[in-house]
Amino acid sequence: MYENVDRQILGDLYLSRQGMEFLTQLVEDYGPRFGGSDEERAAAAFIVDKFRSAGADDAWTESFECTSWKRNTTELQSTSPQARDLDCIALPYCPPGEIEAPLVYLGDGHPQAYEENMTAMKDAIVMVTTATPKFYHRTMHRGEKLGRAVEAGAAGFIWMRGEPGGLPETGSARFGRACEIPAISVSYETGHEILRMASNGDVRLKISSDNEIFETESLNAVAELRAPENDAEHLVVGAHYDGHDISQSAADDGAGTAVVLEALRALAPHRDKLKRTIRFVGFAQEEMGLMGAEDYAQEHSSDPIRFMLNLDGAGRGENVSFILQGWPETMKYFRQMNKDMFETDIAVGDSPSLYSDMYPFSARGIPSATLRSTPQASSGAPRGYGHTYWDSLDKINPRYIQADAARVARLLFRLATEEDPPLKRKDPAEIGEQLTEMGFDKVLRYEGRPVPGE
Ligand SMILES: [Zn+2]
Repeated sequence: MYENVDRQILGDLYLSRQGMEFLTQLVEDYGPRFGGSDEERAAAAFIVDKFRSAGADDAWTESFECTSWKRNTTELQSTSPQARDLDCIALPYCPPGEIEAPLVYLGDGHPQAYEENMTAMKDAIVMVTTATPKFYHRTMHRGEKLGRAVEAGAAGFIWMRGEPGGLPETGSARFGRACEIPAISVSYETGHEILRMASNGDVRLKISSDNEIFETESLNAVAELRAPENDAEHLVVGAHYDGHDISQSAADDGAGTAVVLEALRALAPHRDKLKRTIRFVGFAQEEMGLMGAEDYAQEHSSDPIRFMLNLDGAGRGENVSFILQGWPETMKYFRQMNKDMFETDIAVGDSPSLYSDMYPFSARGIPSATLRSTPQASSGAPRGYGHTYWDSLDKINPRYIQADAARVARLLFRLATEEDPPLKRKDPAEIGEQLTEMGFDKVLRYEGRPVPGE
């Protein structure tokens, strides 16, 4: 059965222009789709329309309340050893206000640098780079680096880009709530301008900002391909359609949303063979703290979801990874499936992450994974052009959208037709234990998030 369906999926997608057309319209007509904005809500309605015309049995929006933020003016100045105006941008959830304080620089933010500067950080502006800490066993997310500074009593936070290129990197300061302290971002070059001043004496900096924080509503866009008989147990595949206000957010994650849509289009003609219904979701507010996925997972926590596949970072390149989120016992099963599909270059691993839309599902014990592909054109930074001004359409190759959509459609078709795939729910406490073993319990606390099962 798979061979004919595979041929059709591959042929349909290879010839489809609609993924790229959708992405172009999404970013050009709806802008960055910043979480909680009118454009984000309008984009949700647009995606529902597209889900319908791609062949969904039904498509709708699900709304939730959330805290949003609006960028106004933010200024950074040095007051000592010399007065200078410096370029900066605010991180989302940076509160309004003004502070002046001495600078403490922690380099790439290795935990040891935090420990050595516990006293110095109190009432200071802590600057740390976006780079992955050298000589540490794992990556450290912005949320953790900022959370550690807040816990040490810092007065302000500067997120300095770790690589040259004049690009400050954005990213929400907190998960779905106002940050306690002003939090801004500077480019590598501005960061070094500040550090050069520090060699002539202690640097004092002033940050002033009049951003707004307010309550609003966002919408997840949901569609369904219904299995003819078993319409209870289902699969969920999704990507976040919201983006950062400073860019088109074409790769992160407009491209992933296009992959969701194209996988739906390719699977629609085969819905009569499905044993499990498939839900396709465009999640809102991921960039502001996984709020759309959190709401969906919460509202549907008693739904019989057999598997959740996240596509944050899909459709961007040829180095494809399929990363399970705490189900290492299923690696063998997925490796075999890729072999059977002749998708031999997909790297399969198990490496739980706290930072995208699969996490609210895995934290509730729902088997989940994320499929992403690495961009070819990159700035050399861990995020590439993601979260910068230049996450733009010109970086997107339509072939990567087609190829990832075909991988996802073929994989979902197998999971939706197999009698009993080895995907079992876990007790959230077990997920919590796994994360604690990896040291993520502390990270969640720095970020003000609960440990699963607690
Ligand atoms: Zn993303």
